[in-house]
Amino acid sequence: MAPYISILSFLVILASIQGICAVDYTVTNTARNTPGGIRFDKEIGSEYSRQTLVSATNFIFGIFQQNNVADRKNVQKVSLFIDDRDGVAYTSNNEIHVSARYINGYSGNVKNEITGVLYHEMTHVWQWNGNGQAPGGLIEGIADFVRLKAGYVPGHWVKPGQGDKWDQGYDVTARFLDYCNSLKNGFVAELNKKMRTGYSANYFVDLLGKSVDMLWRDYKAKYGN
Ligand SMILES: [Zn+2]
Repeated sequence: MAPYISILSFLVILASIQGICAVDYTVTNTARNTPGGIRFDKEIGSEYSRQTLVSATNFIFGIFQQNNVADRKNVQKVSLFIDDRDGVAYTSNNEIHVSARYINGYSGNVKNEITGVLYHEMTHVWQWNGNGQAPGGLIEGIADFVRLKAGYVPGHWVKPGQGDKWDQGYDVTARFLDYCNSLKNGFVAELNKKMRTGYSANYFVDLLGKSVDMLWRDYKAKYGN
C-alpha cells in the first residue's frame, strides 16, 4: 500500500507543477458550415492549429528571451476561434479570432498563411504593451517581427528599407526592428522587457545609443531610400 500511495502523491505533485506551468489551448471552429470553415477543416485543421499555438508560444519565449516563468505574462488559457466574420484576425483577452471569410478568399497556400497569422496573433498574447502607452505601430511591428523571424513572410510585404515612418506598423516596422536587432542581437527582447512597465522613445537610445528617428534615417540610407 505504501508504494502505491507514494506513486500517487508523486503524480499529484507532478500534475500540480504542470498545472502551474502549462498553458491550455483550445481551437473552436464556429463557422463549420461556411465555405471558409469547411476549408479550415480540410486544409488546416484544429489539431494542426493547436500545435501551431504551442510552437508559436515556445518560439516567442525564445525571441523575447523569457527563459523563466516570472519573465512571462501570466496566461493560463489561449482560445482560438474560426469565425464567420470580415477582416483577417484579431486578439483580445487571450482569445484569437481568425476570419473564415479570409480563409475562404485566400488564394495560395492557406495553411502557411494562417500559420503566419497565428504567430502574429500569438505575439499579442505574450508581448508587453508598455502599460498601454506603447505606439500601436510598434506593437504590430513586434508581432510581425516574430512572424518574420519564424519564416512566414507573405508575398505582399514591403521590402527592407521601404515605408514612410518607423512606427507605421506591421511589415514596415518589423523590417525596421529587424535592422535594429542586427545592430544588437537581442534588441527586440530587451525592448519588450522594458515595455513591461511603460514606454518611452528613449528606450531606443538606452539600447542602441541613437534616437529612433536617427536609426530610421540610418536604416533608410542603408537601403538607398
Ligand atoms: Zn496585430
